[in-house]
Amino acid sequence: MLPVIATINPATGETVKTFQSATADEIERAIARAADTARTYRTTTFAQRAAWMHVTADLLEAEADDVAAMMTLEMGKTLASAKAEALKCATGFRFYADNAEEMLADEHADAGAVNASQAFARYQPLGVVLAIMPWNFPLWQAVRFAAPALMAGNVGLLKHASNVPQSALYLADVISRGGFPDGAFQTLLIGSGAVESVLRDPRVAAATLTGSEPAGRAVAAIAGDEVKHTVLELGGSDPFIVMPSADLDAAVKTAVTARVQNNGQSCIAAKRFIVHTDVYDEFATEFVEAMSALTVGDPTDPATDIGPLATEQGRADVEELVADAVANGAEILCGGARPDGAGWYYPATVVSAITPAARMYTEEVFGPVAGLYRAADIDEAVTIANATSFGLGSNAWTTDAAEIDRFVADLDAGGVFINGMTVSYPELPFGGVRRSGTGRELSAHGIREFCNIKTVWIG
Ligand code: NAP
Repeated sequence: MLPVIATINPATGETVKTFQSATADEIERAIARAADTARTYRTTTFAQRAAWMHVTADLLEAEADDVAAMMTLEMGKTLASAKAEALKCATGFRFYADNAEEMLADEHADAGAVNASQAFARYQPLGVVLAIMPWNFPLWQAVRFAAPALMAGNVGLLKHASNVPQSALYLADVISRGGFPDGAFQTLLIGSGAVESVLRDPRVAAATLTGSEPAGRAVAAIAGDEVKHTVLELGGSDPFIVMPSADLDAAVKTAVTARVQNNGQSCIAAKRFIVHTDVYDEFATEFVEAMSALTVGDPTDPATDIGPLATEQGRADVEELVADAVANGAEILCGGARPDGAGWYYPATVVSAITPAARMYTEEVFGPVAGLYRAADIDEAVTIANATSFGLGSNAWTTDAAEIDRFVADLDAGGVFINGMTVSYPELPFGGVRRSGTGRELSAHGIREFCNIKTVWIG
């Protein structure tokens, strides 16, 4: 049986539209077209690519309202956040359009020291890159790959999550209307079972995957077997540490936003709130009050803070983790029970007294559920923060310079944000350590991932 690729409205559970997955012949044609295009596309200039990127960004911006409605329909994020995502994608395209040439300029070494007349590193494209993407930011996750890859002279094949086919088709379409050559960026409507043969195809040079740890492991194993480079952006259970010197009101406000953004389904959402015992009670009271006040409901209603979870299974997973925490001694301070009626809604929930025996202690909760932890001192705060196998983002709130140094030094994560929320910016590298992944996206680091860093030595 072919996989189900469909738009299913999470607010109602209704299947809005189903799509045929690509046949073996269609997949072959897409790869052949990508490989063909790659041969000529690599010779286009930065200026030409940048011009196409700017047109794409302008189109995306002009179409942001419709694009936002499509994303909300497919995965339930609020309309306001969907529109912000569409605009962020336009910014991402423009950022790489304007900066790629400088990021990929030749890097000259001391030629005399290596007995050469000239010696430098040149960044060249790898060719066809397969991008396997998740549904939670249907456009941004894919643009984060597409914009630097296209500017570097690579060609993209997108296998998006099976529940966001319209977003996937839109992205390829807008890039094509931006003027990029036929085959420079194609969407392949395929299920995860079809990824292996595409990745093993000798015409596909490398892959990037954003998604869960099991998916990352599966793709990395195949890529490893084929000796192909991968970038993996996987799960996270980011700590959010609050110390006594912190501005508590600001910390609470940001904690709420950080936890419930995207209906609680963001890899870099703060998920574990680790609070110094001196301010724990005050933080907990204010945090629970603010989380309880959030409106859960129709994602198209501007008054809504939290829409439905994207999939029925996703909500079941969240419920299972909360039930397991309670069975292992945790206490629910607010939320914790699904509302009646259609749609995959789940309320803003705060859980405290989570014991190491509970799965929530170490696993990622992909929904609006915050775990609250009490730390006796900074050592314990860091120990709890590093107690999972993830290492994506991290947050700490303190005005003490020595404490800031300690968090920057000792939080085992790909990023640390002090007195603010973890956000992905095109200007900054983004990625994780440990089970959160390998490699980096965004900034100059991201664009260089899918390049052959060629050593050039001229005697
Ligand atoms: P997922 O189930 O792993 O799916 C992600 C993508 O991988 C989808 O396109 C999926 O296709 C595909 N896939 C799944 N299993 C695969 C396999 N065995 N082989 C090849 N492809 C496979 O993840 P999700 O539920 O969509 O997203 C949630 C997870 O992504 C969370 O853990 C979250 O933290 C993580 N995430 C990480 C980042 C980051 O930047 N670090 C960003 C966003 C999300 P199908 O849809 O067809 O199954």
